[in-house]
Amino acid sequence: MNTIYEKVDPLDPDEAVMKKAGDIIRSGGLVAFPTETVYGLGGDALDADASAKIYEAKGRPSDNPLIVHIAKFEDIYRITQSVPEEARILAERFWPGPLTMIFKKSAIVPDKTTGGLDTVAVRFPSHPVAQKFIEAAGGYIAAPSANISGRPSPTNGEHVLADMDTRIDMIIDAGPCDIGLESTIIDLSSGPCMMLRPGYVNDRMLSEVIGEVKKDEAVFGNSSAAPKAPGMKYRHYAPRGEMTIVAGSGDRVVSFITDKINQRSEGTKIAVLSCTKNADRYKGADLVFDVGDAANEKLIAQRLYDTLRRCDEESIDIIYSEEFDTPSLGLAIMNRLIKAAGHNIIRV
Ligand code: AMP
Ligand code: MG
Repeated sequence: MNTIYEKVDPLDPDEAVMKKAGDIIRSGGLVAFPTETVYGLGGDALDADASAKIYEAKGRPSDNPLIVHIAKFEDIYRITQSVPEEARILAERFWPGPLTMIFKKSAIVPDKTTGGLDTVAVRFPSHPVAQKFIEAAGGYIAAPSANISGRPSPTNGEHVLADMDTRIDMIIDAGPCDIGLESTIIDLSSGPCMMLRPGYVNDRMLSEVIGEVKKDEAVFGNSSAAPKAPGMKYRHYAPRGEMTIVAGSGDRVVSFITDKINQRSEGTKIAVLSCTKNADRYKGADLVFDVGDAANEKLIAQRLYDTLRRCDEESIDIIYSEEFDTPSLGLAIMNRLIKAAGHNIIRV
């Protein structure tokens, strides 16, 4: 398939491009588009065949549901059975923005879109291009991240092109994503609000609005139960090299990783993901990525997936990462890093 690639102004996208993208969705095709979190791979959420195509293009397991994106709050009522008061309050505060809420689905949402679940995940993104695209396409866009399943999520147009060229009808490139990590997911479909995936909207921000928020133990704790967001059980975000997170106090982490660099066998390429303060201490590593520090944690999130992808481009065999336990985004950043490392963590 020939994939149309269009660059647009993130704040003022060309109307003709938006119309073309909308027409592709209305005729059952797939379009990758920017959001403030990561790039999404969109299809008509109310068309089971379009959802089937999304799973195929990504190589995504079919029990891993898609998020339905809307561009007007009122559009939520057609795809849900009921919207609790809590959701209205949260929407008032966080929508449009990086928060996904799960509700009981209505009959017009195909099972294919929700991976067979009777619930639907809904998000109203703040990116102007996402909003214009969703409207041009009829209002309901099912979209997971626009990467091949298992790879790091795309945070710029080149990442999408690398994974999706020839697999989908169109890519809309509006430059780098602002947040760089997927949305926070909360479940409001039954009982008290529960967080299923951490993101930019953290538990403190939610609690300020609706009181205490429970967290899915399978994701945030040590429980071996299956996560309630099915996608959280899969290996994700992963670079091709073998990745290890080294946690502990600063100097011990640096000396542990430095020993590993010195002991490596001939021809093995090693990269280190480091905080700014340690970045020039990893002598002998093939690549050191200064990903930021606690004072500019937004930068860490913005750069994370690009850094993991660059490890692949540089054919890195072994990746060591420090821990980035930052105040506001730390939970979200570490959740993604731990999954990228396949839970391979060493405490020193
Ligand atoms: P992605 O768009 O790649 O970030 O994947 C969407 C995430 O939302 C996956 O982890 C899904 O498992 C989760 N998700 C989507 N719909 C639901 C739902 N109805 N219930 C629970 N999790 C969901
Ligand atoms: Mg994803």
